[in-house]
Amino acid sequence: MVKYRLGVDMSPLDKPNQPYTNSTRSYASPMPDFIPDISIRGESWDQLVQNRGIRFIHKLAAPCPNMKRLNDNNHDPECSFCDGSQILYIQEKEIMGTFTNNSLEKLFEVQGVWEIGTAVISFPTEYSDTEQADFNIFDKLICPDFQIRLTDLKEYEPNSSNAMSMKYPIIRVSDMTSVVNGAIKKYIQGVDFTIVDGNVVWVSGRSPSYNNIEEIGEVLSITYSANPVYNVLQNMHEIRATQQMVNGQKVAKRLPQHVLVKRDFLFKPDSKEL
Ligand SMILES: [Zn+2]
Repeated sequence: MVKYRLGVDMSPLDKPNQPYTNSTRSYASPMPDFIPDISIRGESWDQLVQNRGIRFIHKLAAPCPNMKRLNDNNHDPECSFCDGSQILYIQEKEIMGTFTNNSLEKLFEVQGVWEIGTAVISFPTEYSDTEQADFNIFDKLICPDFQIRLTDLKEYEPNSSNAMSMKYPIIRVSDMTSVVNGAIKKYIQGVDFTIVDGNVVWVSGRSPSYNNIEEIGEVLSITYSANPVYNVLQNMHEIRATQQMVNGQKVAKRLPQHVLVKRDFLFKPDSKEL
């Protein structure tokens, strides 16, 4: 170890193991050669995203039409088509994309920490079946190949389906803990409950306690894995295009698009029971 000034221990830099490329200019530049904006090179960027990107499920949003007439805007608050959110997902399609920018903030809440960062994801101009890919506000993007760990606090309440839902569809519950009579109590997946369609389903006779007189259920702290979900906030470019020379003719061409997204933390707007 070499001791540098400020009293910081640092390793010396490795010696370069290859010569720098010769400058194409009449003078040697101390800077690396100019790095072009690859996103401007439409086709090669499309290929890069297609080959190296990660999978997203793109859910296209549209306003929910479950209302009697338009002029009083009386959307059914109990609407089962959109879960009361007034956003209807009309199509689901797989597309490859890459995160190109990420800025995370944290929101601290009593029940834990929600990541509410925004990120920019780059998408090619087309889905793999060559249909044009368009993104718009309220669209959802789900990463099916990745999982994140989430926590939730729930008060147990019996219901006819014997099931309990979280904010996000559950892939796996890694821990479920309650405190009963001053002692920690654990519920085990496969013993006390199973996961069916992303929900906890209690094994008969193993469900938490419920006081019918006071209508109070056992409070559960649940740690689980789910696929991250992102909401589209806006397109960075409504139409991003360039001209290309094809056989001596100028042809308009769309370029890869950047979409500003935010991690969704209200996938289900309330802790509504099934
Ligand atoms: Zn609706």
